[in-house]
Parts: sequence; C-alpha cells; structure tokens
Amino acid sequence: MEQVSVKTREEGRERRLWLRDLGQQVLLRSQADWSTAERRYAGCGRWRRKDSTVELRIGEDGRAGFGGLQVCGSVWSCPQCAAKIRAHRAGEIDEAARAWMAAGKTLLFVTLTVPHDRGQRLAPLFETVVQGFRQLMSGPDWSGRTRQKVRRGLIIDRWREWGLRDRLGYAGLVRSCEVTYGRAGWHPHLHVLLFLDQAAAGGTAAALRDLVDDEWSGQWAELALRAGLRRPHDKHGVDVQIVRSTRDLAGYLTKVQDEKGADRGVGNELARADWKEGRRAGLAPFQVLELAALGSRRCAELWAEYRRATAGRQAITFSAGLRALCGLDELGAEVDDQTVAEAEVDAVEALPLDDLTWRTVCERVGGRHEVLTAAEAAYADAGWPAAVKAVEALFLELRRRWADDPHRTRWGERWSA
Ligand SMILES: [Zn+2]
Repeated sequence: MEQVSVKTREEGRERRLWLRDLGQQVLLRSQADWSTAERRYAGCGRWRRKDSTVELRIGEDGRAGFGGLQVCGSVWSCPQCAAKIRAHRAGEIDEAARAWMAAGKTLLFVTLTVPHDRGQRLAPLFETVVQGFRQLMSGPDWSGRTRQKVRRGLIIDRWREWGLRDRLGYAGLVRSCEVTYGRAGWHPHLHVLLFLDQAAAGGTAAALRDLVDDEWSGQWAELALRAGLRRPHDKHGVDVQIVRSTRDLAGYLTKVQDEKGADRGVGNELARADWKEGRRAGLAPFQVLELAALGSRRCAELWAEYRRATAGRQAITFSAGLRALCGLDELGAEVDDQTVAEAEVDAVEALPLDDLTWRTVCERVGGRHEVLTAAEAAYADAGWPAAVKAVEALFLELRRRWADDPHRTRWGERWSA
C-alpha cells in the first residue's frame, strides 16, 4: 500500500497550484497544437470564463480563492481539480460506508493488481485491469446459472444455481482506478469497496472475505494469463480485507488529515490517489509530472503517456443504485466531476481583477498561491480593506519584477489562444 504524506492545508494548496502550473508548463513546452481537452487543461484556473470577471474572493471561513475562471475538471492530470473531485468522492464514500456499517452489514475492500514489467505500455495494461474486473463481475460464475435435468427429452427438473453474487448478497460497489510508476514500470490497479447485504457479525464477514478471495484469485490469474501477462502471485493479484470501521484500513493513514483537520478512513484510501506518494518502488503520477517539469525527458514522455492512457476514463465510480441504498441521494443529487471541480468559494468579499493584473499573477509560477496567502493573512489580521491593500501591493511588486522574474512562465504568447 502506498504511503500518504502529511500535508497542512496551506502546503497542500501551494503544492497543488504549483503542480498545476508545472503541468501547464509541460504542455506549453511540449507541443503547439492542442486538442479540446488540452486547451481546457491549459486554461484551468488561468483563463477567464466567457462573460465573467476574474475575482479574488474571501469566503466565510476566511479562505481566499479566485472566481470567474475556466476549470478543466480532470481527475487524473490536474492537481487542483483532482483534489477537489477526490475530496468530494472520499466524503461520499465515507458516508456510504458509515451508513452500511451502521446497518450492521458487511463491507469488503478488494485490491486487484496484475504483474507488469518495465517497458510495457500503460494503456493496454490499464485496459486489462479494467476489463478483467468487468469479467469477474459478469458471466455465470458471478450471476449464477440455470440447470435442468432432462429424461427422455423431457425436462423433469429445473433449478437455479447460485452465483458468487447471490452467495455474497452483493448490493453494490465503489471502484477506484489508480496508476503509479515504479521499477517494474506502470502499475495500474483497482481498489474496490464491496457492499454486501449480509450481517457483518460473527464469522460471516471472514467467510465472505475467504469466498471472494477463493473465487477471484483463480479467475484473476486466468484473466492475466489470457491477456498475455505473467500469472499474478497468489497473495498479490487479489487482496481482500474486511472493513470493520471506516478507519480500519487506515493504519497507514492515521497520520493523514484532510482539509478539515479530521482523520478520514476508507473514503480517502479509495479516493485520494492524489495524496499518495508512491512507495519506495513507485512514483505517483504527480511526482512524474514534477520530475518532467524539472527537465527529465523520460518523465515527460511518461507523463504524456499517462495523460493519453487516462483520457476519458472514469477514476471513481459508484454502481447504479448504491447511492440510494446508502441514503446518499438524501444528501443531494449526484454531481459529475466537472461540476464538483467548478464549485467556487462563496464570497463574502470580492475584488475584481483586470486582465493585465491577472496576467501578471499567472505569469509567475506559484503567483496565484502568493496572492491567496497574502489576502488570507491580511484579512485575518485586519479585515477586507487590509487584504485589498496587501494584494494590490503584491500586484505592483509582481509587475515590477515581471520582466526578469526567473519564475516567469512566458505564457504571454498563448494567453489569448
Ligand atoms: Zn483543472
């Protein structure tokens, strides 16, 4: 399991905004022609939304943010959007898991991996994992089959043979895809939370865990072999754990705090791939991006491959009907990733920024974080007028050193693209 690094709120934001700048820089350097998705990525948090004004806003909690900007909504490659989307999904998963356990029912946490080697392309590996899992959950082994007894051409008996689905009392799942890069190359894997309509009491949960392990380990190995991969190690291809509390799986997560400062359990483990820094042997995607931005040509290629292979794929999915079963629909309608990413700070105060000012801020890697931090500090000390004064001084400073700022991004030429 990956380690998760501890981040304070400010460190987290600074890093996310900085990484997004880097991602956009890498794109800027790498190619001239952009697809629609790339244009969105390039413009995330940078380009003004049509018919709107860029604003610096302060929310009720004293947190600053920008409004009126385009947002890319990429859960895979945009550090800022990924954080927003994953935090939202982690909350939903926790909520669902809590409701399920409160009802005394069983939750299993399954991790599926396949053997891989350096040099293997990510896209087909990813496809193997996703399709393989789809196959585990289809066909007669899963859904059951009808048997019949025929004598002299007459059906004398017919019965339904249970599939794994029936035996488990399967009610639904949340599936999360993750990708890391390590010594053995790309490592796409799935985390799946299985919601089972059976009591978690006594030995039942353990029996259900063993059942999934027994049934799936063999099938999974077969699927890997059929896809031309090596046979997964018995203990690593399919890993099944019982979730006994939302924090149960989180032994390695205990030092992690979310943005509200509270420990979160299973939702984070499933959804916050953006928090995980790869193990000794692996790099998380945003670490690959970081190395790419620092000039590693190898990592620039890997990052480009990762972007292509993940494009259009869902990162976190709930099975149909699960939200309603867990009472999530009572908390509000389901929202897609783009909508989650577009949520803006509800402003108690707002300062419109003219295009030139905004441009100066964005032209500096990390410039946006500097403005937000300055606004928050001054606002906490002496209120809104002081915050406006502080950021205006910072704008002047940024403009003054703009021409020879070593952190200048040189986005100017693409600005109105
Ligand atoms: Zn974005």
